[in-house]
Amino acid sequence: MSQTLFDYTRQDAAGACSTAHAWAKVPAPLTPPERHALAERAAALLKQHNAVLVAHYYVDGALQDLALATGGIVSDSLEMARFGRDHAAQTLVVAGVRFMGETAKILSPEKRVLMPDLDATCSLDLGCPADDFARFCDAHPDRQVVVYANTSAAVKARADWMVTSSCALEIVSDLHAKGQKILWAPDRHLGRYIQEQTGADMLLWNGACIVHDEFRGLELEILREQHPGALVLVHPESPKSVVEQADVVGSTSALIKAVVEGNAPAYIVATDNGILHRMRQLAPGKTLIEAPTAGNSATCKSCAHCPWMAMNGLANLVDCLESGEPQIQVDEPLRVKAQACINRMLDFTAARRSATAAPTSGITPGIGAA
Ligand code: SF4
Repeated sequence: MSQTLFDYTRQDAAGACSTAHAWAKVPAPLTPPERHALAERAAALLKQHNAVLVAHYYVDGALQDLALATGGIVSDSLEMARFGRDHAAQTLVVAGVRFMGETAKILSPEKRVLMPDLDATCSLDLGCPADDFARFCDAHPDRQVVVYANTSAAVKARADWMVTSSCALEIVSDLHAKGQKILWAPDRHLGRYIQEQTGADMLLWNGACIVHDEFRGLELEILREQHPGALVLVHPESPKSVVEQADVVGSTSALIKAVVEGNAPAYIVATDNGILHRMRQLAPGKTLIEAPTAGNSATCKSCAHCPWMAMNGLANLVDCLESGEPQIQVDEPLRVKAQACINRMLDFTAARRSATAAPTSGITPGIGAA
């Protein structure tokens, strides 16, 4: 297993965005009148530019509401990719982090892809530099290369498969059933979890999400004792000690589904707390409790919120629509290579959908709410 890790407390030589830099760029809170005025302006600009807003569950609630009110989408990264590709709008505005914008551009090269701030990145992407990753792959040519969506276009260009947390388990299971050995990157927790569930032969890159890596098993045990009826919902980027206590392990969409469809009165949620906005809207009256994190010394302030997702706001959204910048650009030869592994995933999930005539849930069979 590679031990390559990135120091998230400072920018690297290439200027990759540190957590400190990200927190410094998080927009200041808006007053209700300011929020209203900016949302109205953004809605008008989206219409004027034939643009659609594609937002992730972790971004500010005002952006999620705007996306839904203007015909866009709030979703996990798999649905964001599908929606952007299939929508007729000529401009996609991606409220999320950079790899999501790159994925949109890779799938829709003819469209303009805008983002409020291109410094919005991801610790998994930063922790998996393309050159190091290529050497890792070269050393193991007998393995199928499976990368998580949270990677650069250059890393995807080296991969056989891209997966998201909604479909990773199914795709690795299928490869394993066909006798394939896997090289997995970059999230070590998700990789370990999938390896345990499938029994596949997997070689893991040593990356982590700075948000999910901070959830703590011991503190979760104490919290569960305080809320004995609560269901525990965990994103599989979390450490093993947290995943082991889960009633439901799954993607963001799967965790939302578990709250909406569950009978329990309370839910302990171990993922970025931006998701609570949509959960509250879809399941009013249910009690949502944030899972405990490591404490103030942790790398992301242990706040269960991604600093790079938090960089997206209404003001910089309006700015990017007015100026047409910043745009996502992906070098064409790289784009074509990266597109192959994304399309393989989309074709696989589409085939599974039509075979089962039901959406992929992302909920783990055998754990809780299967
Ligand atoms: S929450 Fe974690 S995985 Fe998601 S963008 Fe932020 S650092 Fe990356």
